[in-house]
Amino acid sequence: MKKIGVLTSGGDSPGMNAAVRAVVRKALYHGIEVAGIYHGYQGLVEGKIKNLDVGDVGDIIQRGGTMLYSARCPEFKTDQVQEEAIGQLKEHGIEGLVVIGGDGSYRGALALSEKGFPCIGVPGTIDNDIPGTDYTIGFDTALNTVIECIDKIRDTATSHERTFIIEVMGRDAGDLALWAGLAGGAETIVIPEVTTDIEGLVQRLKQGHERGKKHSIIIVAEGVMSGGDLAKVIKEKADIETRVSVLGHIQRGGSPTARDRVLASQLGAKAVEVLMENRGGVAIGIRNHEVVDYELKDAFNKERKDELSMYTLSKELSI
Ligand code: ADP
Repeated sequence: MKKIGVLTSGGDSPGMNAAVRAVVRKALYHGIEVAGIYHGYQGLVEGKIKNLDVGDVGDIIQRGGTMLYSARCPEFKTDQVQEEAIGQLKEHGIEGLVVIGGDGSYRGALALSEKGFPCIGVPGTIDNDIPGTDYTIGFDTALNTVIECIDKIRDTATSHERTFIIEVMGRDAGDLALWAGLAGGAETIVIPEVTTDIEGLVQRLKQGHERGKKHSIIIVAEGVMSGGDLAKVIKEKADIETRVSVLGHIQRGGSPTARDRVLASQLGAKAVEVLMENRGGVAIGIRNHEVVDYELKDAFNKERKDELSMYTLSKELSI
């Protein structure tokens, strides 16, 4: 392989830059040229492609977001647009593509691979929702951001003896809410993987109130319901006033943690190694501290990980 491409797509995550840097430098180290594709699949189709040199990825390892920009490109689901993309790649002499992104971006990479163009998926999303890898790039940073917020909100919750509902991101996955809830000492965690027992939740709150425990923290994953909706239910059923904080996009920004930088460097470099073996349709991940590669199509098997034991533990510790 003489030249490869790299793009970032979908929701940005801290550490994407570190992954781009790893892809570029690993390839250059092995004498392979690298083209940066700007604005995700949209930019690919429009030919926003520029060669990247060692210096182009200097001073980015510590930056959040993505220097290649990201975009959504709904038309990429069509065969015709995918063919156009392959046309652009070939026109630029690109023989393999590294796609850094989440679930949707992986579907695009799989589609191109099935059409004969080798693509590698590197998991870049704060949601930690890619099957086959224990962690995705950006999850650790987002988790630490959420915990910082919980700690601050807790100060007010305690001072004013109030119940706070904190809504966190994660789409259909509850990892961010679960980990943040456990690490932030939340009394209640509401995640999509566990059916929410609203009556039980309300009952626990009421009992807490009666015991004199006036402040508590409830973490709700956006994929279950909004913080506002949960507040309404609690008001209706328990007549308890709550305050709602929707953390929103601050969860996606910021300088990546050391852990995310290391992960991004390892996974980005591995993607290049797989392309050097002329393999495509492959996803990169980390399992039990080991960097692994596996079939891209297996990254959609939504079998869940070890959430339940953590959920149970958080309940036991928040009595
Ligand atoms: P993420 O990669 O973070 O999950 P999205 O779900 O928005 O983000 O997906 C990013 C992009 O991937 C989409 O804008 C689209 O261009 C492409 N994509 C998503 N789903 C598919 C699909 N089924 N087939 C081809 N491309 C897709």
